[in-house]
This record gives sequence, structure tokens and C-alpha cells, in this order.
Amino acid sequence: MNKRVTKDTLTGALNRNALRIVFDSQNELSLPTSNPFVLAVCDLDRFKKINDTHGHVAGDKVLKSFVDVAKKYIRNSDVIIRYGGEEFVIILPAVNKENGLEVLEKICRSFEESTLEFEGKNLNATVSIGMMEIKPEKAFKNSFIDEYIMIADQKLYTAKHSGRNRVECS
Ligand code: GH3
Ligand code: MG
Ligand code: MG
Repeated sequence: MNKRVTKDTLTGALNRNALRIVFDSQNELSLPTSNPFVLAVCDLDRFKKINDTHGHVAGDKVLKSFVDVAKKYIRNSDVIIRYGGEEFVIILPAVNKENGLEVLEKICRSFEESTLEFEGKNLNATVSIGMMEIKPEKAFKNSFIDEYIMIADQKLYTAKHSGRNRVECS
């Protein structure tokens, strides 16, 4: 795994190659350990505007600050992956829907409250999150990451259309 997975140099999150590897290993463990796990897709809100207003370097710092905030609330066994530009996937092993929602809400609120100073200006940003629980009996059989990402993505879409800066749960 170490050979194939490297970190995203900008944010310190794992890069996209980690997604399938982490998902497959969770999927395999879920049934024998009877533990569900949580998959969440996070997308920074109105991020284009941050770049347009403050510049790309400021945008980069906001991306890094999101990962820093998220890392404060996740355990060592949890994983944060940079999925695309300003999109991240979080996987919480051995966590159910309620506890996952609690962790993700904390990340969402804490990111909203955090302020980043950049060239004498205060930058604020928010994030929208779509999450789902994968039950042990569902894991293994339906082991298609893309399918799950799609479900979490639909919830992310709901979060965006209900005003952003929130977590929606499938
Ligand atoms: P929404 O709330 O609907 O998600 O709006 P948005 O502006 O975040 O969405 P959109 O997809 O239009 O914009 C994403 C922006 O993220 C556009 C792109 O330039 C920027 N971006 C992608 N990767 C990076 C990066 O590595 N650094 C910086 N600074 N910006 C990036
Ligand atoms: Mg996006
Ligand atoms: Mg966005």
C-alpha cells in the first residue's frame, strides 16, 4: 500500500489512489468484524469565488486549512483523501451513521468558525458534506466504490441546494 499511496503535497491528505485501496480493505473487514463504516464526500463552498477574490495562493491555503481542521476531529485510523480539486473523501472505519454524523458536523462547524489570515486579510470558507453508512451485510457483496460515491454525492448535492455549509446523510 505504501508504494502505491502517496500524499497530496499541497494538503497532506492522501491522494486519489488511496481511495480504492482503503475502501476495499474496509469492505473486507466490515463483515467479519460486524462494523459498519462511513463514507463522506466533502466539497468546499463557492471556492471559485475565493480564488477569484483573493488569488490562487490564498485558495491553496484554504484547501490545506480544511485538511488541518478535519484531522483535528478524526482518529488515526480514519482517512482523508483529496479526491479532486476542492473535493475530499473521508472514510471512518468502524463508525455508524450517528457517530459519523457527529464527527462530520464538528468538522463542518469548526471549518466555518476557523479564520485564515492571508496577506493581512481574514479568509473564511465553508464546506458541504454528503455522507452514508455502509452496513457490514452490505459490504463485501456490493463492493463498488463508485456506486457508494454516487450515493454520497447525491447527498452532497442536496446539501449544496439546501444552502451549503451543512452535512446531509443518506
Ligand atoms: P460550489 O459551492 O457549488 O461547490 O461552488 P465552487 O465555486 O466551489 O465550485 P466550482 O466547481 O465551480 O469551483 C471549484 C474551484 O476550485 C475551481 C478551481 O479553479 C478551484 N480549484 C481546483 N483545484 C484547486 C487548487 O489546487 N488550488 C486552488 N487554489 N483552486 C483550485
Ligand atoms: Mg467541486
Ligand atoms: Mg465547491
